[in-house]
Amino acid sequence: MSLDHDFHLHSTASDGTLSPSELVERAAQAGIRTLALTDHDTTEGVAEAADAACRLGLRLVPGVEVSVTWNGMTVHVVGLGVDPGDAALQQGLAGLRGYRDWRAEEIGRRLARDGIPDTFERARAASNGRLISRTHFARVLVQLGHAESVRDVFRRYLVRGRPGHVPGQWAPLGEAVGWITGAGGQAVIAHPARYPLNRGQLRRLGQEFRAAGGVGFEVVSGSHSADDNRLMAIHAQGLGLLASVGSDYHGPGQSYLELGRLPPLPAGCTPLWQGEALAA
Ligand code: AMP
Ligand code: MN
Ligand code: MN
Ligand code: MN
Repeated sequence: MSLDHDFHLHSTASDGTLSPSELVERAAQAGIRTLALTDHDTTEGVAEAADAACRLGLRLVPGVEVSVTWNGMTVHVVGLGVDPGDAALQQGLAGLRGYRDWRAEEIGRRLARDGIPDTFERARAASNGRLISRTHFARVLVQLGHAESVRDVFRRYLVRGRPGHVPGQWAPLGEAVGWITGAGGQAVIAHPARYPLNRGQLRRLGQEFRAAGGVGFEVVSGSHSADDNRLMAIHAQGLGLLASVGSDYHGPGQSYLELGRLPPLPAGCTPLWQGEALAA
């Protein structure tokens, strides 16, 4: 049996390949009834997704995936049920997009120094005037024949120690959580098993996050293994955090999991959503 909800999805408003309405249509076909659009550092796609959801009788949770720097490391915080009209949230996200624009040019300069010119211009064209992510660079490098796959590009060019790597300078954890809760949303640590943290460090992240007003851990993620899901369930319970589920879907062929294929939460978790509503 597959789940009928998914609280972590991307569209062309960030680095997904489906427009918000195409994404909602595909989710409906996959049997999803409740979904959150959580693009990186923008709520630009939410209005279109909400229209499509309304037309198809689905429930759309307005969301965002905020880029955070915590202890020198990039951590993603998903905000669920945020008001996209909230001024402080929008001001915070605009600041992150400003940094993204600078970083994209810097990635382009670094790759040019490494012998691959014009990647910034190409990535910008591929982003259709919306925000530019490393995923856009990765797709460009695959098209240009510099690597076999997006995954391969990340490994060879875009991560620490590689020619196109730029250390992230994103939002402080407490500020990001503040923007989300201030906009009426619930803050969730995205794909917690993906960070290079040991148990103690992950617990510290969870504790600081909770102290800042965060309420959830994405226990089940499309980028987790079954073991990761079980371990994150134990962490969430120990930290007193609610459990969320999200595929982190970026479009057909872009992720491990197709829509509607997430496994259920491990026993013992308290879900962030209850039936039709997100828990208060
Ligand atoms: P950015 O926020 O621009 O630094 O880009 C982060 C995005 O890149 C993530 O949300 C993923 O979609 C993608 N990404 C990060 N690491 C990898 C990887 N190793 N393989 C494929 N995609 C990745
Ligand atoms: Mn992404
Ligand atoms: Mn993420
Ligand atoms: Mn994501």
